[in-house]
Amino acid sequence: MSDSAAWLATPLQFLKGVGPRKAADFASAGLHSVEDLLYRFPRRYEDRSRLQSIASLREGQTVSISGDVITCGLRGTRRPGFRIFEALMRDASGTVRLAWFNSAFLQDQIRAGQRLVVYGTFERNQYSGLQITNPQFEVVEADEIETLHTGRIVPVYERARSITPKMQRRLVAEALEPLGTDLPEPLPDGMRARLHLPPRHDALRLAHFPPVDASLDELNMFRSAAQRRLILEEFFRFQVGMLLRRREADAERKGHTIRVDDRIRAALRAVLPFKLTAGQRAALKQIGEDMQRPQPMNRLLQGDVGAGKTIVAVLAAVLAMENGLQAAFMAPTEILAEQHAQTIRRLLAETRFRIELVTGSVPAATRKHLARQIAAGQVDLVIGTHALVQESTAFHALGLAIIDEQHRFGVLQRATLRAKGLRPDMLVMTATPIPRTLALTTYGDLDVSSIRDLPPGRQPVQTIARPGSRRDETHAFVRGELEAGRQAYVIYPIIEESEKVDLRAATEMADTLAHEVFPAFRVALLHGRMKQEAKDRVMRAFASGEIQMLVSTTVVEVGVDVPNATVMLVEHAERFGLAQLHQLRGRVGRGVHQSTCVLVYEYPISEQAQDRLKVMTETTDGFVIAEKDLELRGFGDLSGTRQSGMPALRLGDLRRDHALMVQAREEASAWLASHPDGERLDELKRTWIERFGLVQVG
Ligand code: ADP
Ligand code: MG
Repeated sequence: MSDSAAWLATPLQFLKGVGPRKAADFASAGLHSVEDLLYRFPRRYEDRSRLQSIASLREGQTVSISGDVITCGLRGTRRPGFRIFEALMRDASGTVRLAWFNSAFLQDQIRAGQRLVVYGTFERNQYSGLQITNPQFEVVEADEIETLHTGRIVPVYERARSITPKMQRRLVAEALEPLGTDLPEPLPDGMRARLHLPPRHDALRLAHFPPVDASLDELNMFRSAAQRRLILEEFFRFQVGMLLRRREADAERKGHTIRVDDRIRAALRAVLPFKLTAGQRAALKQIGEDMQRPQPMNRLLQGDVGAGKTIVAVLAAVLAMENGLQAAFMAPTEILAEQHAQTIRRLLAETRFRIELVTGSVPAATRKHLARQIAAGQVDLVIGTHALVQESTAFHALGLAIIDEQHRFGVLQRATLRAKGLRPDMLVMTATPIPRTLALTTYGDLDVSSIRDLPPGRQPVQTIARPGSRRDETHAFVRGELEAGRQAYVIYPIIEESEKVDLRAATEMADTLAHEVFPAFRVALLHGRMKQEAKDRVMRAFASGEIQMLVSTTVVEVGVDVPNATVMLVEHAERFGLAQLHQLRGRVGRGVHQSTCVLVYEYPISEQAQDRLKVMTETTDGFVIAEKDLELRGFGDLSGTRQSGMPALRLGDLRRDHALMVQAREEASAWLASHPDGERLDELKRTWIERFGLVQVG
């Protein structure tokens, strides 16, 4: 290992001034080594070589200024317990008031006579007039001008507990010191030259301490050459790993072959109850091509609720079965498995294939018997829950595994199947489309087919957002639908933090609806705390029309098909995420009658929540909604969480840097195709496992 590389691996505790306590504070922010510290961009950059003078401040401006504290102190307000820490600051041109709300601890940090650099917005407060409210600040020494902290473009870091931005700046400078040209370079030379990217050690230095003539805007958009290089480095590492994983999958061979001839084509046509849409046809073609290849298929089929994914999957199953192989169809819940079994039995009634449903409700003895027949190859198509894969179901010749509505676990299930020595074709289906920005990362090793059109004659669900104060009107409308023989869902949110309170509220609401608002109709409650059996009973009663109004928490979200339900009324719609609202809306509009989704919201409602409701009323396109969702939520919610399958990125931001990810993918792909030298490849593989550690490569 080169000296520079060894330095990067050094624990932060070896830096001057970092003892066990500071090391622990760093660790709390996920920073352990010198490398971690350097591979963490500043949150933003401030140009302290051009601080504004106080006299030049204009209302509404966000500014950096520097000056001396004349007086400061804590003051109470008329609101009990609400205190404000105020400071009067002076520079050569004038004075300005700084105010921090509820920040009594500042008494220990800010004192008269100190020099501060502050960053914040100069704005009017309704009580105290023009001031800078809750600014970020740093105490600087009078002789610090022209040092790391002032007199230049300075990096401003996220505070990590006791570690201030200022302290971090000093430590980063110290950490950069020993780095030299012996630092290993993960990026291929050709790529660097072509894209004019600085070498790694230069990039690290420039990303933290930009030159005086750097553009502040460019830096704050994370678009300087140094920043782009480091982001590309991270993305390149990631994509090389993904492509290697992909390559490994391609090296696998299925134990079977699939052929398509005229006889089989005729068999497929015979099954079809309607004309496929263009989207369905295209998806089926891609699936058929995959299945005929010697490598196992890994395909994600995405399409909105009601787009008709089932028939495509069934045709794929027929293709496997016509080739003498078995197929497995897995749904997330028993009810869905039963519904699928019904649909599929109807579709395949005229064929010779034997179809069996295997769920927890099947008596143990029958299940055992079925298991033997499945293992002997006497059952052609097995329908069940995801437990089918996890349990020890043995197949005679499993050619195709279809997984409905659970793309997240698709990868895991593939691993489980593989561990059992099975290499079937895999088709994973989802009604939650993957935003374009994520397709290259989370699902980088899956092929994707998208059905973007809907079967003809579908009436789009009409969606309206209404305040809770107009509930009477809403109920009158629902009553009309029930009287016309339709059914309705009423959804109430339950969130973990306030589960008990929410559950009580949902239960009370169901009571009121049943006894006071809709006494003439049969109303039932469904929630996640009920026993599975009870849930199934209620769900079946709703599906059969026995129950007319189903008051439910979000357990109803996935897949249930009740075509006679035409109303989806969502209470506290402001508390739901976009993807959830879209899923809920997908429960209606499945039959011949016009359906309506009413989103009932309560005040106070955040701007974001308003945006979500607006998106819902403006579009029913799941693809558009998925993109909007990401845009509104940002990646904050997603990143770093392994369950979501997202890579834990340190520098890159998939939304901001999507174009760089595309570029990294192309570069990685070209580089791997060029038979790269083994040393660099080994280094990349090793760091990939360390950094992203999703699934072992190579
Ligand atoms: P999803 O993609 O949500 O799983 P389904 O496969 O359940 O959708 O299909 C929804 C409904 O549309 C089903 O009743 C199905 O029979 C019907 N359907 C699917 N494709 C077509 C088509 N091409 N023409 C007419 N009806 C179709
Ligand atoms: Mg479906």
